[in-house]
Amino acid sequence: MSYLVAANWKMNKTVGETLEYLDLFLPSVKDLTKIEIMIAPPFTALSSASVRLDAARKEGEYNVKLGAQNMYYEEKGAFTGEVSPLMLSELEVDYVIIGHSERRHKFGEKDSLINKKVISAVEHGIRPILCVGETLEEREQGKTLSVVERQIRNGLAGVERDMIYIDIAYEPVWAIGTGVNATPEQAQEVHRFIRSLINEISKGNDGKTRILYGGSVNEKNARELIKEKNIDGFLVGTASLDPERFYKIITEV
Ligand code: 13P
Repeated sequence: MSYLVAANWKMNKTVGETLEYLDLFLPSVKDLTKIEIMIAPPFTALSSASVRLDAARKEGEYNVKLGAQNMYYEEKGAFTGEVSPLMLSELEVDYVIIGHSERRHKFGEKDSLINKKVISAVEHGIRPILCVGETLEEREQGKTLSVVERQIRNGLAGVERDMIYIDIAYEPVWAIGTGVNATPEQAQEVHRFIRSLINEISKGNDGKTRILYGGSVNEKNARELIKEKNIDGFLVGTASLDPERFYKIITEV
């Protein structure tokens, strides 16, 4: 299992900016084939990014995968504004971020919807990254592990035996975009808990599942965080928007 370092650009970058970024970034990671790198641009830039990544792969050894930030679970139909797994597959999207805290808290996504999306992604051969994490209030009330447990059990219902096709991202809501990351100890406590939980529900078939940490990861804190035994990579927001900063994070892993 290689580490995965993933960029979630959120609602940032036009097609032009995406291509500019890739032109700078791709040559810098050309020989970093031991770490898996993923970039999730907005939907509008997926097609151009896909063509660019494909060309890069043909030129040589690149380990950069393409991700989507969300998807709907149906293949097609009257779902205005949504994007389906078939549309993502056509663009050779490898990963899809599901249940990001912004989807949960700003767009009201519930565990039941998130679960349908995870199942659909697995069925369509797109590797879901299921995001979980507690709010500050929940942490202060001592509910961190119970919230994460609920999100994982509900989010993975029905695909517990398919964990080899799924990754998890622990992203404490209070650490996202705040500049305050979880300490390595805080992250490790939750990652260890998630590892034992998915080991239990998958009946031990979770060997390929990576548990990523996300929340104010940057080029200064990445090295300390990645030392923790159960941290298998990162999901990076703000710092991934700059190709040089993202590259530095990757080289710390
Ligand atoms: P920041 O790195 O900006 O805290 O965002 C983390 C995140 O939400 C990645 O999905």
